[in-house]
Amino acid sequence: MARVAPMSEMTSRTTVSDAGGGIVPPPTSLQQTAREAARKASKAAFAAADLFLGDFPGPRILIYHQIGAGSGRQMDLSPEMFRGHVKWLLDHGRIVGFGDALSGADDPESNRRFVLTFDDGYADFYENAFPLLRDEGLPFVLYLTTGHIETGDLLHPGDRPLTWDQIDEMLASGLVTLGAHTHTHPDLRDMPVDQVEQEIGESNRLIELRTGQVPAHFAYPKGYWDQGAETVIRRSYETAVLGAGGPVNKGTDHLRIGRVPVQQADGHFFFTRKVLRGMRLEERVRSLVKGYRNPLG
Ligand SMILES: [Zn+2]
Repeated sequence: MARVAPMSEMTSRTTVSDAGGGIVPPPTSLQQTAREAARKASKAAFAAADLFLGDFPGPRILIYHQIGAGSGRQMDLSPEMFRGHVKWLLDHGRIVGFGDALSGADDPESNRRFVLTFDDGYADFYENAFPLLRDEGLPFVLYLTTGHIETGDLLHPGDRPLTWDQIDEMLASGLVTLGAHTHTHPDLRDMPVDQVEQEIGESNRLIELRTGQVPAHFAYPKGYWDQGAETVIRRSYETAVLGAGGPVNKGTDHLRIGRVPVQQADGHFFFTRKVLRGMRLEERVRSLVKGYRNPLG
């Protein structure tokens, strides 16, 4: 290829809904009381389903960034934790390539297919995760921010970007689906279209120049989806992934593919919850991310 509630949650939802209209007026009729009861019952049922129905259809597309960089950031997982994730995923399903996940999104077993995606392009990923993936023959998606790889301008202090030689070596493994992630990793929200085009154009130019591959896939930097940017993305790539979002199925717009962000603070328990319960927890995570826009409504 050239290149996707604990009890406390139930409580908070109820509280929010009660507080939504300010002071809740007393019911004035039996009908109103019945409506309110039905609404609460449906919310409780929904939350219960969220808790206990793990089997949402569709492959789970996981977002990783750094492995073993020692930065202390949430997106930086220890190699031991990452190894534990891979083992757990293999024990509970299959780690598949991006194309296989999308084409088989409606298969009965698709909810036990997992895609590993790695954003930005860090040397620690190459050093601490790639050897395991290579040895196990596990496919993965690499979304490259070309600026820090090409120029050494760091996305965060102390980072070490991948080198093109490392990328070449990984491509030779045949396990990589290569994607673009802009040139400078900007917030694309409200960016003028010509600037979005520059970011996309430079990123694609460098990836093609250095690897010979024309990237067909894109990841929004920081998960900041934007309607205006999407018009450029839509004509530039076959697929685009978000920073969170709903499950992937046959009806999913391939330019708005949801993913599951993996964080250090998840620990093993919330990692497995996130994966098994589909993306619903991500709805909550997304709402906490300042300024995140939801293209899916
Ligand atoms: Zn990124």
